[in-house]
Amino acid sequence: MMEHKIPFNKPHLTGKEAHYLYQAVYSGHISGNGLYTQKCQKYFEDRWGFKKTLLTTSCTDALEMCALLLNIKPEDELIIPSYTFVSSALAFVRQGANIIFADSNDKNPNLDAHAIEEKITPKTKAIVVVHYAGIACDMDEIMRIARKHKLFVVEDAAQGIDSYYKGKPLGTIGDLSTFSFHETKNLQCGEGGLLGINNEQFIERAEILWEKGTNRAQFFKGQVDKYNWVDIGSSFLPSDVIAAFLYAQLEHIDDIQDKRKAIWNKYHEGLKPLEAKGNITLPFLPDFATNNAHMFYLITKNPAERTALISYLKDHNIMSVFHYLSLHASPFYKEKYKGAELDNANYYTNCLVRLPLFYELGLTDVDRIIDLLINFYKD
Ligand SMILES: *Cc1c(COP(=O)(O)O)cnc(C)c1O
Repeated sequence: MMEHKIPFNKPHLTGKEAHYLYQAVYSGHISGNGLYTQKCQKYFEDRWGFKKTLLTTSCTDALEMCALLLNIKPEDELIIPSYTFVSSALAFVRQGANIIFADSNDKNPNLDAHAIEEKITPKTKAIVVVHYAGIACDMDEIMRIARKHKLFVVEDAAQGIDSYYKGKPLGTIGDLSTFSFHETKNLQCGEGGLLGINNEQFIERAEILWEKGTNRAQFFKGQVDKYNWVDIGSSFLPSDVIAAFLYAQLEHIDDIQDKRKAIWNKYHEGLKPLEAKGNITLPFLPDFATNNAHMFYLITKNPAERTALISYLKDHNIMSVFHYLSLHASPFYKEKYKGAELDNANYYTNCLVRLPLFYELGLTDVDRIIDLLINFYKD
């Protein structure tokens, strides 16, 4: 008999979503920047210490706000890891900027801090870091380089909610940061995101860009007597209905993180014998980083083995997936890319596999997956 199917992901509901949605709808303020938007933003600011946060319709949108806030122009260059999601680069490409793709380090897919400085030119404007799997990049080193060369730092912390670098919450270290609440993330509202602002010089303008280039925020604070068109911008703010859904998730974040970490730890413990035998490589966590269990991945020795492993699991009704395809080698960018091959990014592109990890995944299901992996590598 075939055992039940285990999907790769299943969005989790905490139970209060529908109730808060109902409240948002019947409160009479259904558009953006209502009660739940403010509750969410306050929660983020109070708990993690951002100077200011703004909910957005996605992390992609929050990154677009970063590109506008940094005034990215066609002559500018940005250093961005190649092994990341399209959105990390997209917002800056839309401004016509030149993306200088940098390699991952050889221990985990995060940007190799030592590969950054040689890529800096007089045109470099910012470094975009991605905390892959919610595991921190080497932020002291990255901030040191950025300050030395007067560059801005954007943290794409899409996967990094409630994870830390030397005790500092991810997303509170760079000048600006972005988070995602897409249904595949630890906290989710279907589609949603957040802009985190740590450098105060950006706060006032961010509020303007967020609301279609108007000074509506100043108007509501009573700072101007009429609101007007004052800058560029877009409609980056989500409906309060989305914020209400997100708030129900935010209230349960500790439970969500605990559950995910228990699953992650079980995988890690159970797969150690395979790492000891040299069959696979398990995720590497530097001493400075915590784990928010956004993702459990392992690395196979070669692409053929990864393909065989994914199909073996699929034959046993378990859905595992590979992840990013290096952006420098993508159909959109490869003609424009002039740099050297990025060996580590290519290695993760070819050999990294993600295993199912979601709130409802039972620990007995994790055991079943571990047993199958052990069986796959049986000599
Ligand atoms: C999920 C993700 C994004 C995109 O998030 P959206 O909310 O879907 O726009 C961007 N960057 C990284 C690293 C991600 O994991």
